[in-house]
Amino acid sequence: MTIFSKIIAGEIPSYKVAENDKFFAFLDINPVGWGHTLVVPKQETDYIFDLSDEDLAEMTVFAKRVAKAIKKALPCRKVGVTVLGLEVPHAHIHLVPLKNEGDMDFRNKIDSPDPEKMKQIAAAIAGNFE
Ligand code: 5GP
Repeated sequence: MTIFSKIIAGEIPSYKVAENDKFFAFLDINPVGWGHTLVVPKQETDYIFDLSDEDLAEMTVFAKRVAKAIKKALPCRKVGVTVLGLEVPHAHIHLVPLKNEGDMDFRNKIDSPDPEKMKQIAAAIAGNFE
């Protein structure tokens, strides 16, 4: 069971922002910026391009809805989209609010993000999810 499956199952706490029957979205615990969100399929698959065409399409549309909620909740020009997957073997899309290109530099993480602020941001995104 991956760490993300444990989060989905509620065995490990997360700052959840959205969920449906197939996908789950929550804040990255070590964010590159405020609002950095991960979108994952509930079914464990390591590599995103091993998902079926249908599941990949559905995941992309779900991520689009999450990105729209991020854009409404936080000041940004656009929401950046990245797939890395080098650390956690459970497919996920990174969504990061962008004011400029440097906001998506994964070498720059927020140092010890304040839990209360993370909670507020997750609630703000969740409140704008349609
Ligand atoms: P990647 O696999 O895309 O290279 O990186 C995995 C991402 O998942 C990293 O940005 C990391 O901060 C995040 N991450 C790893 N473990 C956890 C966790 O337990 N909870 C949350 N919310 N994020 C995690």
